[in-house]
Amino acid sequence: MRITDVEPILLRGETSYHATAGAAEATDNGDWQLLVKVSTDEGLTGWADAETLAPAAVAIIAGQGMSILGFRTLKDLLIGEDPRDTARIWDKLYVGSAYYGRRGIGMQCISAIDNCLWSIRSQAAGVSLARMLGGRRRDRVTAYASTLFRETPEAMAAAARGYVERGFQAVKFGWGVFGEDPGRDRELVSAARAALGPARHLLVDPGWYPAGWKGEGRPRSRREAIAMCEWLAEYGVGWVEDFIHPERFDEYAAVRAASPVPVAAGEQVATVWEFERFIRQGCVDVIQPDLSRCGGITVAAQVARLAEEAGIDLVPHSWLTHLLTGYSLQLIATLPRARFVEFNVSQSPLTKGIARASFDLAPDGTVGIPDTPGIGVEVDIDFVNAHRVN
Ligand SMILES: [Mg+2]
Repeated sequence: MRITDVEPILLRGETSYHATAGAAEATDNGDWQLLVKVSTDEGLTGWADAETLAPAAVAIIAGQGMSILGFRTLKDLLIGEDPRDTARIWDKLYVGSAYYGRRGIGMQCISAIDNCLWSIRSQAAGVSLARMLGGRRRDRVTAYASTLFRETPEAMAAAARGYVERGFQAVKFGWGVFGEDPGRDRELVSAARAALGPARHLLVDPGWYPAGWKGEGRPRSRREAIAMCEWLAEYGVGWVEDFIHPERFDEYAAVRAASPVPVAAGEQVATVWEFERFIRQGCVDVIQPDLSRCGGITVAAQVARLAEEAGIDLVPHSWLTHLLTGYSLQLIATLPRARFVEFNVSQSPLTKGIARASFDLAPDGTVGIPDTPGIGVEVDIDFVNAHRVN
């Protein structure tokens, strides 16, 4: 089997990322979305999504590269390859793009392509991706509703009650206004806890930008970060996420050592080498590789082994389309311990429309993990064609 085409597909939508003042649902990136489609001479195709600066990613995948190794574009490196050679191709893409890539957009493009190759590889074998990776240890996993902080305690309570009514047993609130006013932060978390009741899981993602998603203000000191973890513990918060500058591994380790709440992070981390340092330095209790950023399934499967050696949990970060949820669920199926799948309840019309999937939420708050060849998520081609701009 040979790769015949690699298409970066740029989609345009009409809504922008925003939290809401009231109880209404927040919105993820609804203005641009990149998809990648890998085609083969045997008719099998792989699809993946990437959360990145999409117009630049189009150039990295299929633009004009240079003849010198390290400055090649990714499609050039892929045409004619056997898509089942995932590890060898990963190395080839890394080296071929090393002078402009290695992290950021380059690695996000490699991640999407790697996911496509794993999808093709498992379709070719006639099994689900989880079986391709070594086998399913479970059929279902608890989903957590993942959304943004609302601006008032009343809106937080209304939002939390809405998720409970839909069947969620776990909710994560992140970013939004959190960090702007410490007194209000506490009121918002308190209102969410009261609405969820004592038994359901409440997760908090304070954000690492100074004072929330607007990026204004100053970063927390170590003492302030630890104090925040201490008051969050009073509300039985299950983890505090991604709240330290992503380059400050030493700071993560110091805060984690003092925090009464488990520390979760890893969505900013990429490549197995960086995950190895992050985990071995004792930065987190829960590692959160994002399969559209970390280097794809090839890297995430290695991170799962590192996490197991370190005795920590792995919960993939996945706040994008159903494609990323689908890849994440397949990895989760293989883990020795699975706690949650992240469920993006803030999808815009653009991220929601791309892929059809029936991730039905059972009354116990779990979702089923598909066991069909590939990842069991179907792209809506008509929707993609209607929103495509390149
Ligand atoms: Mg996060």
